[in-house]
Amino acid sequence: MFKSLQKPDESPKQNAEKPVEPKLDEKPHWPLGVSLSKSDKLSCFLPDGLKVVLTQEAFEQLFGYAYATRSEISCLGVVRREGNSFIIERFHLVKQEGGSAHTEMEPSAIAEMVEQLLGQGKTDEARSIKCWAHSHPGMGVFWSKTDDNTCVLLASDYLVSLVVSDDYAIRCRIDTRQPIPFTVDQVPVFCEVRTDQVKLEQYAKEVAEKVTVSFGPPANSAEAGRRPSLFDDDESLWSDYFRQTHGFLDDDETVELEPVRDEPPIPF
Ligand SMILES: [Zn+2]
Repeated sequence: MFKSLQKPDESPKQNAEKPVEPKLDEKPHWPLGVSLSKSDKLSCFLPDGLKVVLTQEAFEQLFGYAYATRSEISCLGVVRREGNSFIIERFHLVKQEGGSAHTEMEPSAIAEMVEQLLGQGKTDEARSIKCWAHSHPGMGVFWSKTDDNTCVLLASDYLVSLVVSDDYAIRCRIDTRQPIPFTVDQVPVFCEVRTDQVKLEQYAKEVAEKVTVSFGPPANSAEAGRRPSLFDDDESLWSDYFRQTHGFLDDDETVELEPVRDEPPIPF
């Protein structure tokens, strides 16, 4: 098309007078668009209830593996998602080469583990391996450049990554690949607390027998009896969970126990 602009008898010019000659067959760069918005810094919004929960088994495995050696170790975890909670059910330790400051899982070992699960008919389990955890013995919790690369490499749709160090230090991030590469760092991590329903009922019975409530709402009302679950995304229940597990005081506050006086009980 562009060649038709050239006269047939005209040979291409090759003189040195015009060293930068526009190439006729090259289209100019088309602008991507005209900016309509103000150039403010990008922001994003995350759900309040976003968290990662380690089952007791996963917690024991993770720190059990990590503290069994002074070398770095890696393991892969099975993730179940409930709303905005990512529950790490258990880990699988694969064959790997560990060092004091690096850990490399053999890709063949990962494939072998996945095949083994598929062979046992555990298709869902194999598909749910969406967590990578590794240890930093004596180094603290951070993401090295290699760690960043591993997160990108292992993330299929999403990946929960954990890094642990001494004194049960833990740091968590979630990476997504689609529709844009995205990393949420410092995701809160919880360890699941198992409850024994029979024992809880026994405790409630003891309280009913021995504790007399003089006024305030009845202790055995339907709502009072409902315990919040760790997986509830309801904010009020979640704050109830904190209130019940961490007490009524802020972190730095303390209080001394005093003899019971005629003060009204706190109504919850
Ligand atoms: Zn690392």
